[in-house]
Amino acid sequence: MSHEQSQTDDALHVVVAGAGHAGGRVVQQLVSLNFAGRITLIGDERHAPYERPALSKEWLTSEHEPRIDDSPIVLAPAAFWEPSALRAARVERVYDRVVALDAAQRVLTLAKGVEVPFDRLVVATGGSPRDGAIPGANLPGVHLLRTVDDSLALRRALRQSRGLAIVGAGVIGMEVASSALDLGVPVTVLEAGERVLSRCLPPVMSEWLLREHRARGVRVELGVGVEAITEAAECAAGRYVVRCRPRAGQDAFDVAADTVLIAIGVDCAPAFLAGTGLAARQGVDVDETCRSPNAPWLYAVGDVAHVLDGAGGRGGLRQETWRNAENQALAVAQAIVGCAQPYRETPWMWTDQLGNNIQVVGQPDPRDEVVLRGEPGAGPCAALGVRDGRVVSGVLVNAGRERRFLEKLVASAARVDPARLADPRATLKELAA
Ligand code: FAD
Repeated sequence: MSHEQSQTDDALHVVVAGAGHAGGRVVQQLVSLNFAGRITLIGDERHAPYERPALSKEWLTSEHEPRIDDSPIVLAPAAFWEPSALRAARVERVYDRVVALDAAQRVLTLAKGVEVPFDRLVVATGGSPRDGAIPGANLPGVHLLRTVDDSLALRRALRQSRGLAIVGAGVIGMEVASSALDLGVPVTVLEAGERVLSRCLPPVMSEWLLREHRARGVRVELGVGVEAITEAAECAAGRYVVRCRPRAGQDAFDVAADTVLIAIGVDCAPAFLAGTGLAARQGVDVDETCRSPNAPWLYAVGDVAHVLDGAGGRGGLRQETWRNAENQALAVAQAIVGCAQPYRETPWMWTDQLGNNIQVVGQPDPRDEVVLRGEPGAGPCAALGVRDGRVVSGVLVNAGRERRFLEKLVASAARVDPARLADPRATLKELAA
């Protein structure tokens, strides 16, 4: 009998590295699945594990400053994270950063020098926001946004700001633009690409959203690189000058701002896995049960998990979404207790901007045909992505009730008569039936 087989559950020590949304949920799921071994949850944030979507939305705009201790963003039930409750569930919570892994010995080293041996390791380290190595990115009024502390710092800055410059027109950048607008702060968005939300919206919906932002007064500059952020001379229109370089042939220009947010995505390769061969630039490669094909004791979950497509390891999917963190955590916990279920979920995310709720199902690809049901900006609307006659993705604007029917269509790659698909009188429920 191998070492792996001979170890019973009650002797197993599972270490979860990263105490955010996915890591916290893995622990809660293991406990609710009556996992009999020991669990150690290691994370470098000083808070109970929490969900992040509110950080770019209500946490910036609410009248009173939010406090994490009594906030609904803490993973429910909040009492689970009380020290006595954790002790009773045989969960040890360690507030530290993992800095090294000895894969042969299965031992982690923490920043304070402590060594933590384990039998199973779940990597749940999320992503670190990039600053693009922009000169000036470390100035005090230049922000990144990932944590509760980042959100509170940005919230306080916005309340004293004569202008916000946002580098990056992705989900977080455009959500913050919307929040700043609610606070009456003038906003300029600087985007290197040609579209807003280009990673998750088809071009027609990017164009609509761009129009909406511009109509509300957000200045959005596309095709613009940011060269540097420097301190402005006294009495200037803003504390900082953001130096912008548009496409070739156009003149460089400056944007004045008191506050700058850099929102250009995250890096997901955990530094402590560097040199172990267990992580790549895109995160930690795992199979459909969230287990590493290179080390049977290693799992990854949430933003860091790059799920291989099962066809020889080419392609794959890494999702940075609330639902992925939530449900992949269950898949990992099930795998650890010996009930592995393949994690195959149709991607879904939402964003709230300018009073619109936008939900994205599947992965819109700009090469797909788009069938519009309704007019963006004129009431509820859907944009369905169609490839080879099949529905492969969809965006809903202010039509969240249709989501489960859209998910059904996308999950089954339904082939629907194009005339019916384009006719909003035939509901998605009917089309999915
Ligand atoms: P995280 O929740 O980031 O947790 C990772 C944790 O690991 C962090 O606490 C980190 O400090 C810790 N850590 C990292 N490295 C180490 C280390 N070496 N040692 C110890 N600990 C470490 N998704 C949606 O679907 N809809 C939305 O509207 C939406 N809005 C969002 C708004 C914001 C501002 C942000 C940041 C994200 C948003 N998301 C949204 C995405 C969603 O929140 C993430 O996909 C989710 O948080 C991922 O969970 P995770 O556990 O993988 O990462």
